[in-house]
Amino acid sequence: MTDSKRLRIAVQKSGRLSDDSIALLKAIGVKLSIRDRLLIAHSTNEKIDLLRVRDDDIPGLVMDGVVDLGFIGENELEEKMLERKASGKPADYEVLRRLDYGGCRLSIAVPNEMPYAGVSSLEGKRVATTYPFLLERYFIEQNINAKAVMLTGSVEVAPRAGVADAICDLVSTGATLEANGLEEKEVIFRSKAVLIQRKDSELSDEKQALIERLAPRIDGVLLAKE
Ligand code: ATP
Ligand code: ZN
Repeated sequence: MTDSKRLRIAVQKSGRLSDDSIALLKAIGVKLSIRDRLLIAHSTNEKIDLLRVRDDDIPGLVMDGVVDLGFIGENELEEKMLERKASGKPADYEVLRRLDYGGCRLSIAVPNEMPYAGVSSLEGKRVATTYPFLLERYFIEQNINAKAVMLTGSVEVAPRAGVADAICDLVSTGATLEANGLEEKEVIFRSKAVLIQRKDSELSDEKQALIERLAPRIDGVLLAKE
């Protein structure tokens, strides 16, 4: 169980952000004993509980005030913020620190054989993505009439499967795109991991003091790695 006096931090249970986020907590002196299957992990030396969840859930947990802090990729954070604003849900948060891992870009890629002469080539096309709000915002900015088709997985096979004409997905090396006969054309968002917190006006003095003690240690760890 969690105790409301303990600082609650959401972290991705298993994925690309998990190890680096846990390593950062350990590097700033938070001792943790994590058991693989469990949703909750307690710190043995600080008043901190970890909530281990899917990264998709982290922005909402912070914005709804269920947790105090969360480690999340800016791509997921921005997408969820737009989604929540669109449905009238609370979408406030503060970025406590920008971090040095989880770097990637959200890009539009098209099949090698598709003629492409710039964004206007996407006019009237269907683009598969897990980030429909970021993609729609980009289409509006670019004045393009195209359709975002939401897929939660296997986005890169959508063109071959005839589900979409192009895709918009996260890229780091580009190897997955290449393996699927796709070419990266437009970067629409650049992302890194961030540590976010709920609006500080909602935090107790005790929790705020703990955050103020730990945050400078993050700066120390980031600086030492430069
Ligand atoms: P979950 O099961 O938690 O929902 P997921 O499959 O959505 O996991 P991951 O693939 O673990 O998520 O990616 C989590 C985050 O890692 C991404 O949202 C992004 O911020 C970051 N990331 C960094 N590089 C990449 C990459 N090459 N591909 C995908 N995500 C990346
Ligand atoms: Zn996810």
